[in-house]
Amino acid sequence: MPPPNGGRPGLRDRDGTPCERDTVRRCTIRILIAGGGCAGTATALHLQRGLRDRLRRGEVEITVVEPQAYLTYHPLLAEVAAGSIDPRHVVVPLRRALPDCRVLTARITRIEHAARRALADAAAPGEAPTPLELPYDILVVAPGSVSRTAPVPGLAEHGRGFSTVAEAVGLRNHVLEQLDLASATRDPALRQSALTFVFVGAGYAGVGALAELEDMARYAVRGYHNVAPEDLRWVLVEATDRILAEESPELAAHTLGQLRERGVDVRLRTTLESAAGQVVALSDGSRFAARTLVWTAGVRPSPLLRDTDLPLDTAGRVRCLPTLQVVGPDGRALPGVWAAGDCAAVPDPHADGAPCAPNAQHAFAQAELLARNVAVALESGPHSPGLAAYRPGPAACSTSLGLRRAVAHTRRGGRLTGRRAWWLHRARHLRRLPSADRRVRVLMDWVLGGLFSREVVSLGTLEHPRSEFEAGFGPRPERGPDAPA
Ligand SMILES: Cc1cc2nc3c(=O)[nH]c(=O)nc-3n(C[C@H](O)[C@H](O)[C@H](O)COP(=O)(O)OP(=O)(O)OC[C@H]3O[C@@H](n4cnc5c(N)ncnc54)[C@H](O)[C@@H]3O)c2cc1C
Repeated sequence: MPPPNGGRPGLRDRDGTPCERDTVRRCTIRILIAGGGCAGTATALHLQRGLRDRLRRGEVEITVVEPQAYLTYHPLLAEVAAGSIDPRHVVVPLRRALPDCRVLTARITRIEHAARRALADAAAPGEAPTPLELPYDILVVAPGSVSRTAPVPGLAEHGRGFSTVAEAVGLRNHVLEQLDLASATRDPALRQSALTFVFVGAGYAGVGALAELEDMARYAVRGYHNVAPEDLRWVLVEATDRILAEESPELAAHTLGQLRERGVDVRLRTTLESAAGQVVALSDGSRFAARTLVWTAGVRPSPLLRDTDLPLDTAGRVRCLPTLQVVGPDGRALPGVWAAGDCAAVPDPHADGAPCAPNAQHAFAQAELLARNVAVALESGPHSPGLAAYRPGPAACSTSLGLRRAVAHTRRGGRLTGRRAWWLHRARHLRRLPSADRRVRVLMDWVLGGLFSREVVSLGTLEHPRSEFEAGFGPRPERGPDAPA
């Protein structure tokens, strides 16, 4: 007799034996969450709480599929780069946060909603991926977005991204190494290139990273006898006519003013034409050498969405109703599938029904409503009048611009700058971080940062932990074509 689930690792019964789809269907409702980022993890947390009794009785099973074993809280990455927060404290280990859910460290490769199944590859570093078939009854689509790259000459060789913890730590070490290099070299051209930092894209990632690193570098140069803050050149390049497109125009204009006051060279309506040979060429005709080029030019919806049979809008996001159900061909809810976060085109009632901007505020608020609506649909069906529509509260936006500097808007429309904005910004993110353990750790980092002077040492060698050991063997002989393998 063929093994259940076509011989692939799949769903198991409550006592651990693999089971046929139909048997499981009778006893357990399987909720599959694709993506364990802000929206996916928050949905799982709310469902875990709201369906606790049904989960314990085995009536419902929640599986979160995420390639990393943790959630990365992106809004605090800039503070990781500045050294204000320990890198481990901005990630939330999923298995600890979701003890009543199954967490699968895998990447979903395809979703066939008509057949109610997803295909995934289990991720084991350095090994061939293990294919998995994941049947489900209810699907939550939350794979977020990815960086939008462009075919700019030299970008792939010399640019770096800023969306992971590794990139944040790597950029911090790189910036500090450039100060060391500038201090040590006698070549004026090399010195200038080392002290020029270019960020392309003025969204959250670009503005936050530049502002925090500029602040850190300004502090760090106090320790150098021959590098002054005025020697550092920070350039922010943005293709559109404003920065922070995800935020209100008022907050964006205010942030722009603050950056320019600090001497940041912000170039609007300008694009990067080339970075070949570490020489930055911009569309306004300027050319200069820069050893640091950070690419943060926007995001596009996760490419996974193209490998699904779900309806997408022109930008490639899943089309959703205000209830966060995916829209079917008849304009009504497609049964059993929901979406939230950056990947979802959810109408924003404050923007005449245009899709919500891709930001963490929407991702968390949508996740909370989605979990509530899934619980209602489980009780009363997918067209229940009890399903609520997504109505985000007034935007509570803020941007950190370094230690004790930020700009923020209050929910009542007030505008804050400086320390008060900075405290408000920190309080908001502390409240949003989806783990009490992480909240305490981040708070402790901030308290320690206030008590002691800033830590500005580069630990770039951590990125090559074997180099010292390998150096002990001396230079490696060149391998000829006939050398034994
Ligand atoms: C550097 C940076 C700074 C930011 N700062 C702010 C800020 O200050 N304020 C703000 O509001 N927003 C900010 N944002 C935006 C905010 O982080 C996102 O809008 C938010 O994370 C969206 O949540 P999400 O769950 O949709 O996506 P994510 O949080 O990105 O989660 C998506 C998850 O899906 C996983 N995934 C992807 N593909 C697959 C697959 N095929 N199978 C399974 N899992 C998959 C990913 O690994 C990821 O963990 C920032 C973003 C960045 C990058």
